[in-house]
Amino acid sequence: MDKQNRKAVIAGNWKMNKTATEAAELIDALIPAVKDADCEVVICVPFTDLVTAVEKTKGTNIHVGAENVHYEKSGAFTGEISADMLVDLGVEYVVVGHSERRQYFAETNETVNKRSRAALAAGLKPIICVGESLDQREQGVTEELVRMQVKIALNGMTAEELKNVIIAYEPIWAIGTGKTATAEQAEEVCAAIRKVVGELYGEEAAKALTVQYGGSMNAKNAEELLSKPDVDGGLIGGASLKADQFAVIVDAATKG
Ligand code: PEP
Repeated sequence: MDKQNRKAVIAGNWKMNKTATEAAELIDALIPAVKDADCEVVICVPFTDLVTAVEKTKGTNIHVGAENVHYEKSGAFTGEISADMLVDLGVEYVVVGHSERRQYFAETNETVNKRSRAALAAGLKPIICVGESLDQREQGVTEELVRMQVKIALNGMTAEELKNVIIAYEPIWAIGTGKTATAEQAEEVCAAIRKVVGELYGEEAAKALTVQYGGSMNAKNAEELLSKPDVDGGLIGGASLKADQFAVIVDAATKG
């Protein structure tokens, strides 16, 4: 399976932005803007916007994701949300292991694995984020680091489960900084991710895997990034908060 046959997924990561009222407005603008998309369109929104997002997007081509999920089914975990709670609302995707969670909320490769497996067990599709810091890139360990992040994130997952997994390569130095990886840098690491998945699950599984790039992707640079053979989509932060910009990226995925 090559790029043409893989599912391109453009996912917005709204982060801690938009009240439910503001979310409703943005979704109203998004629905007509992306209705002809030839790729999967996902919006990952704060927990408090999920009900609004699921209700508003019913009958449209927009899918809804959460920005995190706990790995236990229920219990004494004040402030946390379980996978079953998300599924019950009609949520389909969940971002796991975003670098902001790793950096500010002590997320580790092991908890990324636990969250991803809990998400899969409940029927959610995890978008698993991996990526290096600027120091790590300058030290020349990007590929080794990303390979390790992927291996630990997927530890214990079956080939069947892998079909519902997306991996997002998000260099930390490019997130929210306006500094984008070059299309060549994005391709190099996305290809390395596909390679390690191939080593673990075989060539066919690797070829079927959706690998996204994320890090200051915007209306101007999306087409070039998405034209690369191993870049199947994008995880978009800032530019997903503007319906017109997000729609341009969705269009670029269709062309790419
Ligand atoms: C992100 O939050 O995953 C992201 C890539 O953010 P931005 O597009 O703003 O860099």
